[in-house]
Amino acid sequence: MLQGQKALVTGANSGIGKATAIGLGRAGADVVVNYVAGRAEAEQVVEEISGFGVRAAAYEADVSQEDQVAAMIERMVAEFGTIDILVANAGLQRDAPFTEMTVAQWQKVLDVNLTGQFLCAREATKEFLRRGVVPEVSRAAGKIICMSSVHQLIPWAGHVNYAASKGGVQMMMTTLAQELAPHRIRVNAIAPGAIRTPINRSAWDTPDAEKGLLQLIPYGRVGDPEDIAHAAVGLASDLMDYVVGTTLYVDGGMTLFPGFAAGG
Ligand code: NAD
Repeated sequence: MLQGQKALVTGANSGIGKATAIGLGRAGADVVVNYVAGRAEAEQVVEEISGFGVRAAAYEADVSQEDQVAAMIERMVAEFGTIDILVANAGLQRDAPFTEMTVAQWQKVLDVNLTGQFLCAREATKEFLRRGVVPEVSRAAGKIICMSSVHQLIPWAGHVNYAASKGGVQMMMTTLAQELAPHRIRVNAIAPGAIRTPINRSAWDTPDAEKGLLQLIPYGRVGDPEDIAHAAVGLASDLMDYVVGTTLYVDGGMTLFPGFAAGG
């Protein structure tokens, strides 16, 4: 489905990014696996992707650092020829009750979750614009998928930095989609609900925690990273060529206000 396309997935040595990088490789794309720490895990992902007969490589870069992001895209263009698909996935949490949250905690989350996506999208877009549409490869000049969260919509007490970063991603994504659509660049987002990854381990790793979490999920199961990978492959492919500026919620119904299922 993605044969001949070159994809970059940030934060791809863990969780959703890892599953997405593998999913894109399985769909035929060559994949750059970005990581900031954990080279061994990144190399494992590369090995798994290489097993599909496509090309893969691990690139170290901190997505919040302008020079490192520029160097990563430059290297990808030099070594892979170009970039067709960016999945801006890298993200983290630094949780604290509001009055205890430090500027460092606030800033770190904004730097990685929002500025990181801005930098990666900007550098990828320069290459999309330089190269333009290659009809044999894709109907679009480039595809950007921003990894957002249901917390671009649902307020989240104790996580004001994270919720603000994802709210920012939502408006950044739609604004970029509007600005770049005339250049045939498609910008969309995925908003995962609760997915079983290291970022939210405490929310699902005991039976009690999982039971509480399931109260928030009408579909009755916690999500797997592959649920998000499948959505990313779909959004990246020409089957969704007319999908522009949309957030795809992949959340088992978490945003359906399940508390209102009875009463209200
Ligand atoms: P994870 O902790 O498993 O993965 C996050 C990845 O980002 C890791 O590889 C980490 O090393 C990387 N990363 C962190 N800072 C980085 C930096 N400065 N530069 C490059 N990489 C960096 O968590 P995950 O659940 O897979 O999260 C992936 C994305 O999905 C995040 O944007 C997160 O906000 C979002 N998300 C996750 C869930 C969930 O339930 N797991 C829900 C909604 C949104």
